[in-house]
Amino acid sequence: MLANVVAYLAIVVLMVGCNGKQAPADDQSGIDDADSAMVTSANTEQGLVSQPGLGESAIDFVARVEAEGIALAKELDAAFWVRATHITPDTATIAAKAGERGLAFESRVVEQAKQYRDTITDPVTDRAIELMLRGSSAPAPNDSALQAELSQIMTDMEGQYGAGKYCNAQGECRELQELETILAKSRDYDELLDVWRGWRQVSPPYRAQYQRFVEIANSGARDVGYDNLAELWQGGYDMDSASFVEESRRLWRQVEPFYEQLHCYVRDKLSDTYGAEKVPATGPIPAHLLGNMWSQSWENIYDLVEPYAGVSSLDVTAALVDQGYDELQMTEAAEGFFTSLGLPELPDSFYRNSMIKKPRDRNVVCHASAWDIGNGDDPRIKQCVEVNEEHFETLHHELGHIYYYLMYKDQPTVFKGGAHDGFHEAIGDTVTLSMTPAYLKARGLIDAADESYEATINKQMKIALTKIAFLPFGKMIDEWRWQVFSGEIAPADYNASWWKLRQAYQGIAPPIARSEADFDAGAKYHIPGNTPYTRYFLSFIMQFQFHQALCASAGYEGPLHECSIYGNKVAGKKLGDMLSLGQSQPWPEAMQAMTGQRGMDGSAIIDYFAPLNSWLKDKNQGLQCGW
Ligand SMILES: [Zn+2]
Repeated sequence: MLANVVAYLAIVVLMVGCNGKQAPADDQSGIDDADSAMVTSANTEQGLVSQPGLGESAIDFVARVEAEGIALAKELDAAFWVRATHITPDTATIAAKAGERGLAFESRVVEQAKQYRDTITDPVTDRAIELMLRGSSAPAPNDSALQAELSQIMTDMEGQYGAGKYCNAQGECRELQELETILAKSRDYDELLDVWRGWRQVSPPYRAQYQRFVEIANSGARDVGYDNLAELWQGGYDMDSASFVEESRRLWRQVEPFYEQLHCYVRDKLSDTYGAEKVPATGPIPAHLLGNMWSQSWENIYDLVEPYAGVSSLDVTAALVDQGYDELQMTEAAEGFFTSLGLPELPDSFYRNSMIKKPRDRNVVCHASAWDIGNGDDPRIKQCVEVNEEHFETLHHELGHIYYYLMYKDQPTVFKGGAHDGFHEAIGDTVTLSMTPAYLKARGLIDAADESYEATINKQMKIALTKIAFLPFGKMIDEWRWQVFSGEIAPADYNASWWKLRQAYQGIAPPIARSEADFDAGAKYHIPGNTPYTRYFLSFIMQFQFHQALCASAGYEGPLHECSIYGNKVAGKKLGDMLSLGQSQPWPEAMQAMTGQRGMDGSAIIDYFAPLNSWLKDKNQGLQCGW
């Protein structure tokens, strides 16, 4: 991504993409999927930012950066939106240039911001300066040649990933989305293996570029005052880096035993399907059998592990199709959830300017994302909506971002952002946890809410395959990158260390031998795209915590998994109050505004999944869990 430039300047395209588990994968390179916010433009070329000697006060500096950023945002919004919705070599050129200017602007801002780092002005200004210093996921070094090289490498890696194809021995070529479909649907061990291995031929060509990227980005991090990029990333949570690392690991340990139960049960079922010689009863699971290119969420193999065969799968897809829903109606229905909470209606411009249907006449980046354009006045989503349950949920997810933008619209731009980066991802998902059978029935999307024990276990299994299976993956990606950035992992060990962490956290292993000629980390978008990933892990933890707190606000007292806050204005007010803070306060303040707690906590997950957890423990008796 060209830039996570300046999440702090917050300006412009705060485009929050989504972790890709759900969305139709990118059909192209594209600038996608990251918190990015870019700024810049011609009028900064002669801007004062590069002349810190003028004695500008911190207050004046912050005010000027905001004003310039808003003005410059227009240009970058246009460049990136058009790039994502009309993919051509021309729009790539325009976007790469814009990204380069964004990096240059960012670098000048950071350079000047550094001189205010140790001065105390007032809490608002001090926080603004701090956010500027830590805001980018790849700060450009203060060197124009390196800036250009960084921008070029990032654009190029993304381009190679986006253009990636695998052509098999028969000469049939497939893009990622088609390969993913095979991974999801095929139950042929060898076909799965072929596709899994095939996609991993895309990334070795940019392994050396990634190594160079790490060098330059580390140098940019040092220019901002961090030892390396890992420390900068870890420093984005209103606590020191070491404390955050430990806190994130503590959260994982809270949920790890439950994951191990899920892993144990799934491994046993896969062993039934593929045979014990392919999937042994102990040890890691072969990575290509979990229905997903990265083994990051497992809902596509639900049919192989369904606890009670055929019991009430709530067929929302069939209901959407039967009732003739189209892309627009699905979007409006998702909006209806938010307005039921007392949150405002979406502006007309949202429907005018969003891309919710895949165009037939051009290439676009289909990967779902939400964009904060026009300084809060023109928020948009980009999603190639298909009429099915998964896309219906993704729409709620994207609108979670949009409502964040709308609610913090009146904050200074420097404070437009999630309380921390996990918050932004968690909002829409929190809402989807309220899409209970009772809610779907109330909306006329299913005829009867079968809430039998068996139906509950089946539903929980589906959710766990998505959200619990994801947790160790969400955790390990940045465990790997933290060590890559800090130098603990040497470039010569990129691949071996990747698989070491994959096995330790997820309990999976490559189905065929891998070597340092491979670059399997790079076969996941967020590595060449340089999107920090811990945010998704935190989001998956916090969304259950948020759900629990909002249900408590709503006065709900039953089992957590049956709660829906739909239509509850008290819960809606709590949510809205938290959203409207943006990142103006340290995140524990936002957390407290909504939940009454000041820390992140994984215990709501255990609470929510209590029925499935005890069911799994029972089923796993006699199996040797772990790996
Ligand atoms: Zn998202």
